[in-house]
Amino acid sequence: MVKYHQLYINGQWQSPNSAETIAVINPANGELCAESVSANFADVDAAVLAAKSAFTAWSLTTAAQRSQLINAIADEMENRRDDFTDAISITMGCPKHISQDIQVQGAIDSFRAFAELTGYVEQTSTENGVIQGHAPVGVCVLINPWNYPLSQLVGKLGPALATGCTVVAKPAEQTPLQDLILAEIFHKVAAPAGVFNVITGIGSEIGEHLCSHPDVDMVSFTGSTAAGIKVAQSAAGSVKRVCQELGGKSPYIITEGADLAAAVRYGVEDVMLNSGQTCSALTRMLVPQSCYQQAIEIAKSVAEENVVGDPKSSNVTMGPLSSALQQKRVLDYINIGIKEGATVVTGGVDLPADLQAGAYVMPTIFANVTNDMTIAQEEIFGPVLCIIPYIEIDEAIEIANDTVFGLSSGVFAEDTNSALKIAQKIRAGQCYIQGAYFNTHAPFGGFKQSGNGREWGVEGLREFIEVQAFIIE
Ligand code: NAD
Repeated sequence: MVKYHQLYINGQWQSPNSAETIAVINPANGELCAESVSANFADVDAAVLAAKSAFTAWSLTTAAQRSQLINAIADEMENRRDDFTDAISITMGCPKHISQDIQVQGAIDSFRAFAELTGYVEQTSTENGVIQGHAPVGVCVLINPWNYPLSQLVGKLGPALATGCTVVAKPAEQTPLQDLILAEIFHKVAAPAGVFNVITGIGSEIGEHLCSHPDVDMVSFTGSTAAGIKVAQSAAGSVKRVCQELGGKSPYIITEGADLAAAVRYGVEDVMLNSGQTCSALTRMLVPQSCYQQAIEIAKSVAEENVVGDPKSSNVTMGPLSSALQQKRVLDYINIGIKEGATVVTGGVDLPADLQAGAYVMPTIFANVTNDMTIAQEEIFGPVLCIIPYIEIDEAIEIANDTVFGLSSGVFAEDTNSALKIAQKIRAGQCYIQGAYFNTHAPFGGFKQSGNGREWGVEGLREFIEVQAFIIE
C-alpha cells in the first residue's frame, strides 16, 4: 500500500496541518490500496500562498525556460510511466494495458506538446494605435475528477506552465496518486518552488475555501455539473475566472446510408471504453427505424466481446467502475431504465459470481428507449448505451439536441460531407465524424450545462491568458 502523509507545497514535502487521512480503495477488490492527506483550510492557505509567492518570478521567465521545464518534466514522466500506469489502474480500475496507452502515454505526449506553445503568451499585435498583448492569468486552482486523472491534470497544467501561471492542483479523492507522483517529478527536476503545489482533500469540504480564496485568480474545474455549479458560486464573490468542463449525454446519429456494422461497432466501443466513464461518451445512439433491429443485434454482439474482470489481466478489456458508490449509481440507473420500460438487450444488474467482490457493471445495452426517459436524459457515467429509433433525419437532430448537455456528439453517414451537414446542426462542442477518435488538436469543451471552458491546443492555452491592451495613440 502506498502512503502519502505529506503535501507538496512550495517545492517541499510538508507535513500537513490536518491530521485526517483519506483511504483510497482499489475498486477491483474493495481493499485499501493507498492513503493520502485530507487537507484542511490551513493547508489550502499554505498552498495558495506558495503559488502566489512564486507567480512573479515564474511569470517573468522566457518562453525557452518554460519549454525547458515542460520537456524536463515530460522526460521524467516517461521514466515513471510504469508508476503512473499502476497508480491509475489500481485506484480507478482501468485495465493496465489500457491505462498505459490511453491514460498515461497519451497524457505524457499531450503534456509535452505544450512546450511548443510557450511563445504564444509573448505574442503581440499592433493596430489602430493599440498594442495588444497577453499576460498569464495568475494563481490557478486545478480541480479534477477520477476518470482520466493524469490526462485531465496535464490538460490544465500544460497550458498553465506554458503561459507562466502557478498552480494548486487538487485531484479527486479516489485518485490522488498521479498528482503526487508528478510532485515528485517536479522535485526531481528542481522546478522553481511554488510553481506546482498539490493539495489532496475532499472537494465538498475544502472546495469552497479553495475556490473563494482571494489570492486565487482562476479555477479550472473538470467534474460533475452539480459540483461545477458550486465551484462557480464559490468563485463568484471574488470575480475570478472559472472554466468548467462538466458532464454530458452525447448523441450519436447513424444515418440510413452509413455502413451500419462499422458505425454501430464504433459507437458501442466508444461507450464501453474506460468502463463507460468518459464524459464525452456517445451514450445516445440514434438509429433509423428501418435498421433498428439490425443495429441492436450488432450492438449486442460487440458489447459481449468485452472481457470484464481484473484490471491486472492482459486480456481484460473492461475493469470495474471507479468505486462501489459509482457502481451503485450506475446499477440504480439500470433499474430505472427497466422500470421506465426500456429493454435490456445485454448486461443489466446481475453480475457473474467471480466479479462480486469488485465494483463491476456488465456492458449494458438498452433498446426501446425514448429520449424523455431518465436513462436518456441523465448522465449515467457507466457502461450503458441507449439505442433510440428515429424516422426522419430532422427528428434525429431534434432528439440529439433535446438535452441539457452539449459536450460531444457523433455522426456516421454515407460520407464525410453528408455527416458534416448534420453535425453542424448539433449543439455540442465537438462532433466525431465517421468514427474519428479523440484528438488533442481539437478544442474540447461543452455547450449548455456541459460547461464553458475549452481545453487542449491554443484554445486551451487562452483559458490561462488575460488580454492586455497598451494604447499608444
Ligand atoms: P465530481 O464533480 O464529484 O468531482 C470532481 C472533482 O471536484 C473532485 O476533485 C472533487 O473532490 C471536486 N469537488 C467536489 N465538490 C466540490 C466543491 N463543492 N468545490 C470544489 N471541488 C469539488 O465528479 P466525479 O464524480 O469525480 O467525476 C465525474 C464527472 O466528471 C462526470 O459528470 C463527468 O462527465 C465529468 N467529467 C467531465 C469532463 C469534461 O472534460 N467535460 C471530463 C471528465 C469528467
